[in-house]
Amino acid sequence: MQEPIGPAKRRLGVMGGTFDPVHHGHLVAASEVAARFHLDEVIFVPTGQPWQKGHRAVSPAEDRYLMTVIATASNPQFSVSRIDIDRGGKTYTIDTLRELRAEHADADLFFITGADALGQILGWRDAGELFSLAHFIGVTRPGHALADPGLPGGGVSLVEVPALAISSTDCRERVARGDPVWYLVPDGVVRYINKRALYRDLAGPER
Ligand code: ATP
Ligand code: MG
Repeated sequence: MQEPIGPAKRRLGVMGGTFDPVHHGHLVAASEVAARFHLDEVIFVPTGQPWQKGHRAVSPAEDRYLMTVIATASNPQFSVSRIDIDRGGKTYTIDTLRELRAEHADADLFFITGADALGQILGWRDAGELFSLAHFIGVTRPGHALADPGLPGGGVSLVEVPALAISSTDCRERVARGDPVWYLVPDGVVRYINKRALYRDLAGPER
């Protein structure tokens, strides 16, 4: 007798980020990986509220969460999770993946990360366990070399995505200078930034 074929495992992409603000580089990366890896869904996971990221204060978690919701709302394959925001404090990817693993026990997880972050991955907390929880997908990002960081078990795929030289840092600096961010971030995000007067008194990257 033939083995019954069970329902296919769901394939979930996970896109972690500060998303301060979310921009079209994030959205294109998620969309491209979803298509190439036949993902059922990509979950955007804004980070919790660290006291600061490097030299600067990070915008309130609720603002970053709402901008991410606005940016992804029209795509039925995209969703946003509050798990890192609700946990609070600095986000460690190991906690994100453990929680998602518990929530979606029957799914395969694909963690999407840009070339800049991929280069640092071996220094992440509990790096060894990370790769047992998800398959890692490194995507190209202008200005950063994409290289296999030599993960145990070969658990990483490298994917070329359409090159968008956009960063949240540049978007914040543009708003502070009074330069436009139209077409770098979704229209609704431009309007949300204006409504909440985000990034206006940011004097520069050292503040
Ligand atoms: P910041 O300048 O504040 O660091 P950012 O633009 O790097 O912001 P993050 O929220 O730090 O955005 O990034 C979330 C994830 O998206 C990371 O894995 C990052 O490498 C990836 N990413 C960001 N921008 C791009 C882009 N233009 N193309 C490809 N990947 C990107
Ligand atoms: Mg970044």
